[in-house]
Amino acid sequence: MYDAVIIGAGSAGLMCAARLVSKGLRNFIVLDSNSKPGKKLAVTGNGRCNLTNLKLDSNLYFTDDPKLLDSVISRFTVIDTIDFFEKTLGLKTVNKDELVYPWELKSSAVIDVLRLYIPQECFVFDSKVNSIRKEDDHFVVASDKEYPASNIIIATGGKSYVNTGSDGSGYKLLASLMPQDSFVPISPSLVQLKTSDRDLKVLSGYRFNCSIRLVCNGDEKASETGELLFTDYGISGICTMQLSRYLETGKNTVVVDFIGRDEDIIRSCIANFSERSTRDALAGVLPGVLTDIVLKRIGVKKLISKNEIDKFIDELHDFSINISGTNGLDNAQVTRGGVKLSCLDENLQSKLVRGLYVCGEVINVDGPCGGYNLQWAWSSSVIVADDISRSIV
Ligand SMILES: Cc1cc2nc3c(=O)[nH]c(=O)nc-3n(C[C@H](O)[C@H](O)[C@H](O)COP(=O)(O)OP(=O)(O)OC[C@H]3O[C@@H](n4cnc5c(N)ncnc54)[C@H](O)[C@@H]3O)c2cc1C
Repeated sequence: MYDAVIIGAGSAGLMCAARLVSKGLRNFIVLDSNSKPGKKLAVTGNGRCNLTNLKLDSNLYFTDDPKLLDSVISRFTVIDTIDFFEKTLGLKTVNKDELVYPWELKSSAVIDVLRLYIPQECFVFDSKVNSIRKEDDHFVVASDKEYPASNIIIATGGKSYVNTGSDGSGYKLLASLMPQDSFVPISPSLVQLKTSDRDLKVLSGYRFNCSIRLVCNGDEKASETGELLFTDYGISGICTMQLSRYLETGKNTVVVDFIGRDEDIIRSCIANFSERSTRDALAGVLPGVLTDIVLKRIGVKKLISKNEIDKFIDELHDFSINISGTNGLDNAQVTRGGVKLSCLDENLQSKLVRGLYVCGEVINVDGPCGGYNLQWAWSSSVIVADDISRSIV
């Protein structure tokens, strides 16, 4: 009989196992359907793994239980996380402003320090868990073999980037043990946005450093500054993904300010090259395709009068993109929804099924880009491991 079976060797499962080891526990196993640990962790931060955020604000997460979320993150903080990685696991970290990365700027370093700290015999790979049943005072976890355990930890992730192993099967495992009203329906978060504006197709592949804001049903909901990438379906880039979190049912519009404070440059190009077409006059500052779209939107062929130039500038400051939806879960960085945090106690143990613990993205918690989602995986898994080790040691 194992003290614990951890289902999932992703960010949360690995951290949970490492924490158990640091508390002197060895009688546990980690099962994963993949042939190696941390497959999603490997692709985080463009392969560099932004592992946390020095300015983390717990108010920026979405969840059904903000108080419990704040308590979990306050009990294993960003500083505790960096300390654990540096002092216990031996990972050197480096900061880029408030974003924290492994010093090597490689996610493989994060996976390696976790993997190497956990005894090899605790891992069982290529082992997809299909069912869990409760028998008297323990659980039986079934994959190709059966594993009896006093405690089980569901660290199966959400349902985004399915090819990394998080295929949503964790929700089914939980649903077999918890009441149906314990779940918030899942949807993609931190995801690219689609547009129905056909005139924007020609911008596909263009990148702009600009400010963007999201207006939902007439109200501004969020704004971001950064790189905006136009694609064949709509818009992408970190700032777009951040806005995707605030989309509402109804009319959603992204308003782009392409020029910020640089409108004088536009005005002087138009004045200096007035003999040229507007597209050619602005060739050194704006892609011709964008100039053409903006001219078409304001209904002018060549900018001549002050009024026309003002309208053109206004359109560059307030360029609307109608949002028709988002890409699917498979392209989303995180899954919104999952098991309700409010169905778990302060140590993330099911309030109804004792011995059943949950951590990481499978819980209804999602944060913005910038290390928030990994911090949730680290904090929630440590809280679970600490509670289990208190009950055993
Ligand atoms: C492209 C991308 C970039 C990202 N970048 C960042 C970033 O830089 N910073 C940040 O904070 N967050 C980032 N995230 C989000 C972050 O990676 C996740 O929130 C985090 O990994 C979730 O951890 P988890 O352990 O809950 O789930 P996962 O890491 O997805 O791990 C779940 C594990 O469970 C296994 N599993 C699932 N079901 C079963 C089953 N039935 N039986 C056995 N095993 C099972 C899976 O194989 C998987 O290994 C990124 C996500 C993506 C997709």
